[in-house]
Amino acid sequence: MGTIREVTHRKPRITSSLDEPVWLGQAESLPNRDFITLSEKMLIDLVRKHGDFTKADLAIYTDFSRTKITSCIGSLINKEIIVTNQATEYSGGRRSKTYSLNGKLGLVAAVDIGATSIDLGIADFSGKLLVRYSEPASIKDGPIKILGRVCTLLEKLLLENCLSIGKVKGIGIGVPGPVDFSVGALVSPPIMPGWDAYPIIQTVQQWFPSANVVVDNDVNVMALGEINQGAGWDVDNLIFVKIGTGIGAGIVCEGKIYRGFRGCAGDIGHIGVDKTGPLCHCGNRGCLETVAAGPAIAERALLAAQLGKSSILIKHYEENGMILRAEDVGDAAREGDATAIEVIRESGQFIGDVLASLVNFYDPQMIVIGGGVSNLGNLLLSSIRQAVLQRSTPLATRDLRIVFSEIGADAGVLGAVSLATEYMFSLSPAGSSQNR
Ligand SMILES: [Zn+2]
Repeated sequence: MGTIREVTHRKPRITSSLDEPVWLGQAESLPNRDFITLSEKMLIDLVRKHGDFTKADLAIYTDFSRTKITSCIGSLINKEIIVTNQATEYSGGRRSKTYSLNGKLGLVAAVDIGATSIDLGIADFSGKLLVRYSEPASIKDGPIKILGRVCTLLEKLLLENCLSIGKVKGIGIGVPGPVDFSVGALVSPPIMPGWDAYPIIQTVQQWFPSANVVVDNDVNVMALGEINQGAGWDVDNLIFVKIGTGIGAGIVCEGKIYRGFRGCAGDIGHIGVDKTGPLCHCGNRGCLETVAAGPAIAERALLAAQLGKSSILIKHYEENGMILRAEDVGDAAREGDATAIEVIRESGQFIGDVLASLVNFYDPQMIVIGGGVSNLGNLLLSSIRQAVLQRSTPLATRDLRIVFSEIGADAGVLGAVSLATEYMFSLSPAGSSQNR
């Protein structure tokens, strides 16, 4: 017989800083937000994801009784958060009422800041995009210039479309670096001078005092877009992989973004795949992104071309003013160039090998591939798929789907709308215990 282990020396469990972000509930936001109960929040989240719904739909997706559903719907209608639509659907021979989020209750702004671009959107409360705008920008210009530009543009877009600034109740922002989600700030981001610990939320809130501002890493934001409006709408456990200038992953666990303890989960670009590989900006050698992201694809292709292995790649290089980009390698592959095909295959193999480990570790239902380099097409996808299938356990891959993003360049903006909306309806930390 064994003895019971002494456990009194253990320290109490530390609560993750992500449980109660400091920014939650600081903006004016919805006047009645604090009065939303946990059950109402669950219904709102379902409706955000699935659109129009009937009481019968809610009975399928929740374990609520009919009485509870009716009472929650009544309460949310009183708070003007949902509205009743014309009865159009037939259910068991009779028309049943449908309900949806009240789009007119306010506006949500979406901001997707990339390394070389700003993407903006303005949506109504139901998540429908009303305005979409993009322009090139360099993240290296620093937060004062970039955030100033973002806020000026949002004001201009609102004005041009006769939308009131005071109606903006939520702003979701994705940024291309590691974010401490609990405070909404970047932490030692590489290639982003001036952004470390910069108060993004406070800066944007000065322009839009009525809005609750939420900041997250761009890949997490894209993953959110994908589960709410893209390829992963019917999936609760997935990995979203962005392949662009770098490589990162957004992890969706049980329908929620898994951010880890500090908020930096999913930084797969710095998993080592080749100890003798190229030096990475993180200081290590042979990180995944140094051998498989966009710049690595372009560099390897150029090297091969300069050794005389591909006249097509040299043609692209010369036509572009002595620059070869990852998309040129994609074009050359589509033209049947053997060197370009080989370079893309290698990149897919590296990414697939890392994903195979993640599949064995995490057992997701789906992997969604997005980001600029995903435009290289099916060749990349098939090599990733092949590597994953080869190296993962059969049970983990039996029903695993590996697909391209369905919302492509809009993933960041649609995800930022979801991010803002999710927290607009959150319970205040003080109200969460008594409002069940
Ligand atoms: Zn690295």
